[in-house]
Amino acid sequence: GAAGDENDVVVIGGGPGGYVAAIKAAQLGLKTTCIEKRGSLGGTCLNVGCIPSKVSGLDLVWSIVAADELDLFSLSFEFHRNQGSTSKALLHSSHMYHEAKHAFPSHGVKFSQLEIDLPAMLAQKDKAVSGLTRGIEGLFKKNKVNYVKGSGKFISPSEVSVDTLDGGNTVVKGKNIIIATGSDVKSLPGITIDEKKIVSSTGALSLSAIPKKLVVIGAGYIGLEMGSVWGRLGSEITVVEFAPDIVPSMDGEVRKQFQRMLEKQKMKFMLKTKVVGVDTSGDGVKLIVEPAAGGEQSTLEADVVLVSAGRIPYTAGLGLETIGVQTDKAGRITVDKHFKTNAPGVYAIGDVIPGPMLAHKAEEDGVACVEFIAGREGHVDYDMVPGVVYTHPEVASVGKTEEQVKSLGVAYRVGKFPFMANSRAKAIDDADGLVKILAEKETDKILGVHIMSPNAGELIHEAVLALQYGASSEDIARTCHAHPTMSEAVKEAAMATYDKPIHI
Ligand code: FAD
Repeated sequence: GAAGDENDVVVIGGGPGGYVAAIKAAQLGLKTTCIEKRGSLGGTCLNVGCIPSKVSGLDLVWSIVAADELDLFSLSFEFHRNQGSTSKALLHSSHMYHEAKHAFPSHGVKFSQLEIDLPAMLAQKDKAVSGLTRGIEGLFKKNKVNYVKGSGKFISPSEVSVDTLDGGNTVVKGKNIIIATGSDVKSLPGITIDEKKIVSSTGALSLSAIPKKLVVIGAGYIGLEMGSVWGRLGSEITVVEFAPDIVPSMDGEVRKQFQRMLEKQKMKFMLKTKVVGVDTSGDGVKLIVEPAAGGEQSTLEADVVLVSAGRIPYTAGLGLETIGVQTDKAGRITVDKHFKTNAPGVYAIGDVIPGPMLAHKAEEDGVACVEFIAGREGHVDYDMVPGVVYTHPEVASVGKTEEQVKSLGVAYRVGKFPFMANSRAKAIDDADGLVKILAEKETDKILGVHIMSPNAGELIHEAVLALQYGASSEDIARTCHAHPTMSEAVKEAAMATYDKPIHI
């Protein structure tokens, strides 16, 4: 069959790195096969990550996908429209509930009764996910990417043996093979994830009841996002973190305000604390914790514990040793600037190689890698990959933090603008947050931008583009921004960087 014929490109893994690489390769005229063992496309991101944690309003897509006649044009249109939305299923659903409860009354919208229907909320998430994963299948058909459902294993640098999901086996050959097998949950020593009482982010996306007490181990963005979801639905949230700070990559000043916001939402933090033991023998879970530096132990009780202490590259069962592909100490596949591994014709992209473990970074890798394979130029600028924490408010950033700029010894200026002084944020009564811009003192060139606000994940892209073009803060300040928008806060922060803002 088609899978047995030689391909120009074979992609192992159908996550955001792999499926985007496959579509791009086909678009460049390369004969392409994508192998995915999950049974559905979209990888961690779509199935158990970015999307299910953030959904709502996707019924439309699903009804189109579910229609008998696949209308590929409107399907892919809807797919992109919705993939681009910031709604991440459970974050959005729980936010709607929280708003209805706490924000609507002050806007004069009153209910006599408000309830959570958890099964309906989870069903909405599942619907969104299945609609989107089937949307990618539609895009594969449209672009003539051959899709093999099964688990791939190298038998040589140009041959992959696939145990197919229907119980068979096939060998897929390719001149170029891209490894896009992604990452998996990192477990902690002595803690067994049963996905019931002790869950990973995957289990936390489908708890059967709202836990009274949820303890989150790890204060990275995934832990905080999942903590927010259940906190809004009524769980008491305690976050235990070994490090002295939450989200270590965040600008320190923004982080402080962010933590204060989360504390206002009743999230509790135990920083510089380590979990040394766990007891699941009773009804709930007892966690034994002690100060990171050592000291007196104490016990934390929980109904559910979420382990979100990071993710590790996933290469199990891939047969890397058969073809001698090198990995580093962290298990990440070593690649050069063209995404080439040390094995001839074998490339790697996404979470399985070094760099930020983010869906959009994996996608950029995928496109650039395929461009190199096709003999073109590809490029990913890892200094300009935006990062977003999808809590409420969101925190988005691109470029350097103030701490990083300081440590580089660069003379810099800071411009800040609070959303309290932004008319749109005031109008919607959602004005917690700020924009902070760092620019080189001598040239005014923007070095980093940090935004905390509702929809910060959308606002950040003006800054990403500015950084990409090597813009100065004055370039943003002299760009006309529509009124009344949250984006005006970005303009005012830019004015504040080299001169004075107007509205504060
Ligand atoms: P993956 O998405 O992990 O895909 C790899 C695929 O390869 C998997 O489907 C796997 O089944 C398949 N595979 C593995 N081995 C084989 C094999 N031998 N044969 C065949 N198939 C195989 N990122 C963001 O940018 N924004 C977010 O909001 C965000 N939220 C997240 C929330 C959560 C809860 C989690 C867990 C992650 C989140 N991420 C987010 C991270 C994002 O999901 C990853 O960075 C992204 O999925 C990486 O893409 P990838 O293609 O490299 O790998």
